[in-house]
Amino acid sequence: MTVRSLWLGACALLALTTACQSLSPLKSPSNAALQAQQAPSRAFEFQSLFEVDGAGDRWLESRFRDFDQGLLKENLNLRTQGPLQLKPEARQGRYLSRAYTAPFAFNAVMPAWTAQIPAGAQLEVQARVSNDGHNWGSWLPLFQERSILLPQQMRFIQYQVLFKSPDAARLPVFEGISFQFGKTRPNAGLSRAGRKQALVPKPEVLPREAWRARPPKGEYTPHTPAAIVLHHTWKPTSAQYLKDATIRGIQNYHMNDNKWSDIGYHFLIGPDGVIYQGRPETVVGAHSTPNTNYVGICIIGDYDPGQDPLTPESYAALLDLMTWLTSEYGIATQEFYGHRDFSTKSCPGDSVHHRLDEIRTEVKRRLELAQQPPAPRR
Ligand SMILES: [Zn+2]
Repeated sequence: MTVRSLWLGACALLALTTACQSLSPLKSPSNAALQAQQAPSRAFEFQSLFEVDGAGDRWLESRFRDFDQGLLKENLNLRTQGPLQLKPEARQGRYLSRAYTAPFAFNAVMPAWTAQIPAGAQLEVQARVSNDGHNWGSWLPLFQERSILLPQQMRFIQYQVLFKSPDAARLPVFEGISFQFGKTRPNAGLSRAGRKQALVPKPEVLPREAWRARPPKGEYTPHTPAAIVLHHTWKPTSAQYLKDATIRGIQNYHMNDNKWSDIGYHFLIGPDGVIYQGRPETVVGAHSTPNTNYVGICIIGDYDPGQDPLTPESYAALLDLMTWLTSEYGIATQEFYGHRDFSTKSCPGDSVHHRLDEIRTEVKRRLELAQQPPAPRR
């Protein structure tokens, strides 16, 4: 994928992203190590810069490898102009960058980094932003090549990288990061400060109480929805569906036989178009490894070739739900998957999986419609 096409994809994504709308009120930094950032920040050194035409927005790209100017390097080895690596004797480390001044006030930023993360090791990248270089918002988790949209314009950004390793043989290495900044047009409608509501209404979802769900056995692990994975039940088939009794049966199976803490899916859709809430979508489910950041939707029925047809009711509910999730969490439509994309199973069946492209197109169309400003009154 070229940088340009990636970036155009990001523009589309930006329009949908709401991930940062919970940006907390700006606070003074408490960490004494951060005082250094109050010195005037050096502007980015641009190694590449281009404008994306067509949309009228200006997007800039910058790259840097200036780890030696970082404010904090806990348990990290560093070569000048080289990568950051966790020290062999350390299991955790932290790098805190200096504050950077963006080339213009921005309300969107997209990170891209390069790193080597051995199996079992972890690397977490976070950023926070400021409009004056003194008061900073809370740390926001970053996802590779995923735009975050800010509720107001900012001028400064700082990032940190958290390293974790199980042993000295598996040390994560962080090689570099770039941030691309974006500024939407004033009338884009998405940069309104403090905007909270999703662009599209949430479809009716039957809450857990309504289908008499058992409480979960353990604590949930929070995550941010960033992709959607579709499943089918296979068994029960569409004809075996008994409304909420079926959902309770699936929950019992997951909790009793699979020994999971709760039903694995976040949502289930009946052939009658009823949407059931499984786990809250803001917590990690159990449906398709690696699960974290993946929202699992299960369509009741067997959608393998020659089996159940996907009912118009369940397809309509699926579109409503996926459009809302995409809008609410800024999920890119390229991040729609079937379980088979991660597994050797045929799940969610050809009748569902073959429609993924059609679903992407329809969700995009609905979101574009939702973004159009209301027609002027006469
Ligand atoms: Zn599945």
